[in-house]
Amino acid sequence: MPARPAASAAIAWRLPMRTRFRGLTERTGMLVPGPAGWAEWSPFADYTGAELVPWLRAADEARTLGFPEPVRRRVPVNATVPAVDPERAHAIAARSGCGTAKVKVAEPGQRLADDLARVEAVRDALGPGGRVRVDANGAWSVDEAITALGALARLGLEYAEQPCASTEDLAELRRTLARRGIDVPIAADESIRRSGDPERVVALGAADIAVLKVQPLGGVRACLALADRLGLPVVVSSALETSIGLDAGLALAAALPELPYACGLNTGPLLDGDLVAEPLRAVDGEIAVPAAPPAPDPELLAAAADGAPAAHWADRLAATRALAEYEYAR
Ligand SMILES: [Mg+2]
Repeated sequence: MPARPAASAAIAWRLPMRTRFRGLTERTGMLVPGPAGWAEWSPFADYTGAELVPWLRAADEARTLGFPEPVRRRVPVNATVPAVDPERAHAIAARSGCGTAKVKVAEPGQRLADDLARVEAVRDALGPGGRVRVDANGAWSVDEAITALGALARLGLEYAEQPCASTEDLAELRRTLARRGIDVPIAADESIRRSGDPERVVALGAADIAVLKVQPLGGVRACLALADRLGLPVVVSSALETSIGLDAGLALAAALPELPYACGLNTGPLLDGDLVAEPLRAVDGEIAVPAAPPAPDPELLAAAADGAPAAHWADRLAATRALAEYEYAR
């Protein structure tokens, strides 16, 4: 009888980022094979211990079960504009082919004037009919967010994603904006995927929109159940995955009963390279949902595996697998 493939059949990879994004200059992770295909397991470096288990559940779902049936075949996506200068921001938005852009704001070392200039350039590139959202990754205090969003609101914002770090601050900000007549809806991202208590966003009235990411939230089915419990409109976003991981995000976006906003799944171009021969990319602002799970190209995977921190990833996977089995057994 042939030996069952060992856990070491998982392959570590590393790809550089084209532009520094969320402080990252490279993305590294693992591909893990299974009966339903290859899954990506690529938790960010700042996730540790039990926080890694949902990422593993997501990979295990993808490689053993595959995904639920889609209700749509194309997913509208936004362009992603890093904290670059206005000229570059304009070019990224203009050439994206997307009618929606998400602009990074509140980057450490930058000022509100930089954010205003960047958002203005993106608004100019997309025109009055374009949708512009901003993401502060929780970097503003409530007061800073009121000032910044008060100034940015005149450029017409679709929403502001995680303007403040805590769910309590989001709730306070949302109430204050409403009181002052500043019309900027609030989307919760880190408050959903990292707070340990996503339902608190709804309990406190902290957001109008929920951003869901498949890996940190434990898989496509777990996200569908969470979306149902939250009862908020959902934007599916990536965790800056390769096309293998992006496919799981697309599967979620394709299976949600309603999808009123463009999704943050066109992040493949932020990576310099990919692991599949035909990367998942937007055409005219939409990504087509693949009919079959994408498989890695052997040469591209070998190139990305060369120089990847394989021992680190093997240890991380083994430790997380042990934690997950303990949790499954409880
Ligand atoms: Mg975000």
